[in-house]
Amino acid sequence: MSLGRSGYRVVIVGAGIIGLYTAHHLARAGAGPILVVDRGFLSTGGSGRNGGGIRQQWETRATIRLAREAVEAYRRFGRDFGHNIWFRQGGYLFLAENPAELARLARVHDVVLSEGLPSRLLTADEVAQRVDGIAEGAAVGGAYLPTDGTIYPFPAVWGLYEAVRDEGVEVALGVEAVGVERDAGRIRGVITSAGTVSATTVVNAAGGWSGDLSRRCGLDVPNVATRHEILATEPMKPFLDPMVVRASDGLYFSQTMRGELVGGLTVPHPPGTQRGVPSSPRFVATMARALVRLLPRLEGLGVLRAWAGFYDDTPDGFPVLGEDPRLPGFVHANGFGGHGFMLAPSASRRVAAAVLGERLDLDPKEFSPARFLGPRPTDRAERLQLG
Ligand SMILES: Cc1cc2nc3c(=O)[nH]c(=O)nc-3n(C[C@H](O)[C@H](O)[C@H](O)COP(=O)(O)OP(=O)(O)OC[C@H]3O[C@@H](n4cnc5c(N)ncnc54)[C@H](O)[C@@H]3O)c2cc1C
Repeated sequence: MSLGRSGYRVVIVGAGIIGLYTAHHLARAGAGPILVVDRGFLSTGGSGRNGGGIRQQWETRATIRLAREAVEAYRRFGRDFGHNIWFRQGGYLFLAENPAELARLARVHDVVLSEGLPSRLLTADEVAQRVDGIAEGAAVGGAYLPTDGTIYPFPAVWGLYEAVRDEGVEVALGVEAVGVERDAGRIRGVITSAGTVSATTVVNAAGGWSGDLSRRCGLDVPNVATRHEILATEPMKPFLDPMVVRASDGLYFSQTMRGELVGGLTVPHPPGTQRGVPSSPRFVATMARALVRLLPRLEGLGVLRAWAGFYDDTPDGFPVLGEDPRLPGFVHANGFGGHGFMLAPSASRRVAAAVLGERLDLDPKEFSPARFLGPRPTDRAERLQLG
């Protein structure tokens, strides 16, 4: 494949939800010419492999605010881009199995409520009303936010792909970024499998492979790729509105409009991208047992398919947004863990602002790449890494 030009102002690596949204914001700001490269196909990465969960219940105000802005953007998505992403605000319901977990959820509830969102703490009976058929004693209560929900991720990626091309962005699929060129210590170009192009900015939106790319460009970063698995069952008559998440082990599932249950739970795998993203029989068995223990009437329900993808984890649970102080022109848009879809519209807006050299309205202790470079680790963290 050959590229349309020999030089661009911005090259974005990764045509997932983050790279495409960033391209959109930049194109709208007139920051072209812009090239997005992806060595795979559309939706190769996490953006084509996730559970579609969109939640605003978080431990920190910083994440709540980004997520809340993202919800507003997803509500407008059909109008803005002409694609229906089937955003259904059926809520997110976190289950507590014991008083300690309920106390943790109550702390989250207090912060979310104080941010003006209609969070509710539920009794065990109120949980049972929303999760029909839940096993007796399976939850002592829960936290529920009715404006959270789920989307169908594929049309979001397709819609943005079409939008950014209409906006003049070149998207080159099947093209790998293999390194960067520097001049006087800053970015001068990007070396790709389709040739080297000049650019003053490169955006690392490579999802689970972002750490590989940064390191290949000589930047030591703490991002770790972890493999997470997910499955879809046969369809059932609709019975479940919210995304259900269990605080103890991170079991999560929602019911799609076709009636399938889609969800996952974490079984440990060695970190890193080398082994790819196969699904494992251990996951399917563990997930099936967990689901049936929680909802006994699921016994006998078939699993239609199972798959896996990478989370891109950071030590403090916040994404990494902005220019790397060690390499001017190298901008991070990564480290989203298992939650990049639900933060994409708002986080990518900050990434675009960083590319344009604008001051960010984010606390650098929480989001800047510089936070990992100091002598002491930051005391801030976003630990509600569930569902
Ligand atoms: C099982 C699972 C469930 C999840 N559930 C949710 C959920 O419910 N809600 C939510 O918000 N998030 C969820 N996530 C996380 C979410 O999917 C990701 O955070 C998000 O999709 C990341 O988007 P991205 O654009 O950063 O990366 P990706 O979508 O991974 O895109 C990165 C792209 O970069 C390309 N690439 C990598 N290296 C190179 C290179 N050197 N050159 C060229 N191209 C390159 C890849 O081919 C890939 O297409 C889940 C993830 C998984 C795996």
